[in-house]
Amino acid sequence: MKRTCRDCGKGELVGGRERVHYTDSGLPNVWLDNVEVRRCPVCKEHVVIILAVEHLHRAIELAAIASDGHESARINLRMSGRKWQVLA
Ligand SMILES: [Zn+2]
Repeated sequence: MKRTCRDCGKGELVGGRERVHYTDSGLPNVWLDNVEVRRCPVCKEHVVIILAVEHLHRAIELAAIASDGHESARINLRMSGRKWQVLA
């Protein structure tokens, strides 16, 4: 199935797996690995596809607690199947 870019309406989105800085978590240092990112070759816009968001937020919470409240501590998670795994 073709996915046309919603921004320019011309490009055909190309999907790939990337590592992204997840700023929507409310924490400054959350990185997600193996996340689907769709890019438009025409306008260079990109869309990050995050699955299992509720599970992700719970995993981030637990990782933040484990890091002893150090807000600057980096949290690395990886999408594995339909779940998020915290990486040490
Ligand atoms: Zn586009």
